Amino acid sequence: MQNNQLLRCCRVCGFEYANYYPWGEDGNSASYDVCDCCGCEFGYDDDEGASGKGVLVYRQEWFNKGAPLLEQDDKELTQEKKLSTLKQQLSNIGIELDSNIVFQVKNSLHKHQNGNLNAKNFYCLICGLSYTERDFCLHSSCICCNCKFTYDDNSDDAISTYRQVWLNNGAYPFYPDDPRLPKNWSMSHLKTQLANIGFNLTDEMIAEIEKNMRKI
Ligand SMILES: [Zn+2]
Ligand SMILES: [Zn+2]
Repeated sequence: MQNNQLLRCCRVCGFEYANYYPWGEDGNSASYDVCDCCGCEFGYDDDEGASGKGVLVYRQEWFNKGAPLLEQDDKELTQEKKLSTLKQQLSNIGIELDSNIVFQVKNSLHKHQNGNLNAKNFYCLICGLSYTERDFCLHSSCICCNCKFTYDDNSDDAISTYRQVWLNNGAYPFYPDDPRLPKNWSMSHLKTQLANIGFNLTDEMIAEIEKNMRKI
């Protein structure tokens, strides 16, 4: 029973097929089909001898894409539901969804939310500051709005709530001396930055922010 279940799972992503054996019922006769979930080719991508990659490398690549689950489901899933589905899927193949994997996946999702997985730069989803990938990996909080990445920007609600509080407090950079931030922070910097993420300030908002914006 256990063995049979394992044979019905993708070795890379753990997706469990109801009635299908990626490597055949004997676990040794690869079908060379493509996984519905992670897209690996059974017998090639999950075979180091064949592709030079193998399960670990391919799985890492899949995490780096934000571990997309089945196409028709993935866009509908909240991040919480996605991670619980992922946890269950990985447990099929004996892999624990540890904090390291969660971070990698969320980090990739963050980029994904910015719309372009291959982008070299991406934006804080709250304040719109542009980051390079490297910056982002090194810093878990935004140097501008001080949000905690993958936590404060975890959902649309979380993003707009955090942004509103930040704006109400004068929308001032948390680390104003950081060289990656513009000198002499001003309303025009704020507008430009927010435009990166398609957020436009209304006149009322600007008036409210200016009341609170500190002078340098
Ligand atoms: Zn798979
Ligand atoms: Zn930010």
